[in-house]
Amino acid sequence: MNVSATPTVKPTPALVDPFGRAITYVRVSVTDRCDFRCVYCMSEEMQFLPKRDLLTLEELDRLCSAFVTRGTRKLRITGGEPLVRRDIMTLFRRLSRHLDSGALKELTLTTNGSLLSKYADELADCGVKRINVSIDTLDPAKFREITRRGDLRVVLAGLDAAQEAGLSIKLNAVALKGVNEAEVFDLVKFAHGRGMDMTFIEVMPLGEVEGERFDQYWPLSEVRAKLSEQFTLEATDYSTGGPARYYKAKETGGRIGFITPLTHNFCESCNRVRVTCTGTLYMCLGQEDAADLREPLRAAPTDEKLHEAIEAAIRRKPKGHDFIIDRDTQQPALARHMSVTGG
Ligand code: SAM
Ligand code: SF4
Repeated sequence: MNVSATPTVKPTPALVDPFGRAITYVRVSVTDRCDFRCVYCMSEEMQFLPKRDLLTLEELDRLCSAFVTRGTRKLRITGGEPLVRRDIMTLFRRLSRHLDSGALKELTLTTNGSLLSKYADELADCGVKRINVSIDTLDPAKFREITRRGDLRVVLAGLDAAQEAGLSIKLNAVALKGVNEAEVFDLVKFAHGRGMDMTFIEVMPLGEVEGERFDQYWPLSEVRAKLSEQFTLEATDYSTGGPARYYKAKETGGRIGFITPLTHNFCESCNRVRVTCTGTLYMCLGQEDAADLREPLRAAPTDEKLHEAIEAAIRRKPKGHDFIIDRDTQQPALARHMSVTGG
């Protein structure tokens, strides 16, 4: 594969939406595929996209680079499982030039950890400093149940490899009623014992999955109340530029983050957009409106049309989302799965 020639674009004005929010954070899903089938994320039988619909690694690089020239400071590579995409390190390697130039402040990824043992060193070598790893339980049998096919030992070995490579880790756990309720203390102690931040995420109503969403939904207000039984939580103003609100647990000295799209509306400070592996730009995780960037990407080898499409889309970025999960609203708010938009 030719990885050398990358069209460059002249610096252009920053992207600011109609509500005055500067767009500085882009999450890019590089594949909708995954080696796991987490119960809240995918159904058992998933219909994945044909490979020809996916942006090539060169196109992903062009697209990310276009955002970087428009003021994106943080790029998160996600999926599906980003590390299952063939030759994915080629993309990290290419994007690292924006870290070298200082244009990009952070290149990071969200991963299920299954391939970290293989890639941790190379990620660190490409300038990745911090990563998010998703682990909802430390019980191997439960882990297998939630992921339907994951092996906790492999993921824990991946954490070791990442820490040995010098990567900082934030653990993400989706709070699942009746599933990992009893484990929140152990997850926090495990993470903090290894110098990692621990973040809890509320289940979001994305995509059809088996079982009813309300059965999985455990509001983080309740998770926080439970954690307060063992930890003294002190509010902090720490931020990684994402949506999590962080507290410090006095007993461990570690941080606990809460991502609460449902119980707490975090839209007013939203600085991010998402791009799918087919080049669809979602201006809001919780809304259907989207812009196709693949067509302008493929229309010409230069990026004028791409920039026009991005600008037009940002002008339509909505003020916020309106997710609801209650007993009367059993349908997903959006048909697409999290693995399509990227977490
Ligand atoms: N495969 C990688 C992983 O699991 O970290 C990256 C993609 S995954 C879609 C990103 C994050 O979204 C994970 O932390 C996952 O737990 C979370 N997630 C997936 N579906 C979700 C849902 N319906 N509600 C809330 N979080 C979800
Ligand atoms: Fe795969 Fe991540 Fe979705 Fe689990 S949450 S099925 S690991 S994409």
